[in-house]
Amino acid sequence: MRILIIEDEPQLARHVSSALVRHGHEVSVVNDGVAGLAAAQERRPDLLLLDLNLPGMEGLAVLGRLRDAGVQVRVMILTARAEVEHRIKGLKAGADDYLTKPFAMEEMVARVEALGRRRATSAPGDHLEVADLQMDVRRRRVARGGKSISLSPREFEVLQTLMEEPGRVFSRTELCERVWHRDHEYDTRTVEIFIARLRKKVDSGFELPLIHTERSLGYTVRAPEGVAGEGRS
Ligand code: CA
Repeated sequence: MRILIIEDEPQLARHVSSALVRHGHEVSVVNDGVAGLAAAQERRPDLLLLDLNLPGMEGLAVLGRLRDAGVQVRVMILTARAEVEHRIKGLKAGADDYLTKPFAMEEMVARVEALGRRRATSAPGDHLEVADLQMDVRRRRVARGGKSISLSPREFEVLQTLMEEPGRVFSRTELCERVWHRDHEYDTRTVEIFIARLRKKVDSGFELPLIHTERSLGYTVRAPEGVAGEGRS
């Protein structure tokens, strides 16, 4: 993968960079927010490792600018344990995952590779449909009622998981495992934030919601009753 690290602690940046290079990744490092934003826009890396406290421009601002510009790079934020608030803000602002400092290099590499691993997509032209919500899996496009919806890679994967089995309820833990490749100890709050993000993009402005919460069980995507869906039109 082509990975961009935006991190102002030189020693940490160096360690992270050399661990990733050892695993065969192509890595570049920028240590300031403004330069980092420019580098992310110009180089279009596959994955961005983004520190939050940065000189020049805060990590959250960098992330916001990238997402506003429609840059769909996978973003992992690096946060200190004390910055729980920032982590939540980061996920809400469009990060795909986070890593808490300090971290072991092996864990970092494993998590970065899990984030970078694309879902094995099936046949070309693979198409999912629930009511008026349509997903072109191969082109990674989503539209509802003919209107295109821009999703981050992880938002796309959460929605894809739900749309592959309409009506099936997925627990938060199950979504964590499927999408983040993590076990049940992973913070399920992250799943809640992603569902909230998806609702905003997929359901807001439409009379009938497609994303449903089954109390204490989890989440499902299904067509409203009496409305044709799942392939029928
Ligand atoms: Ca920093």
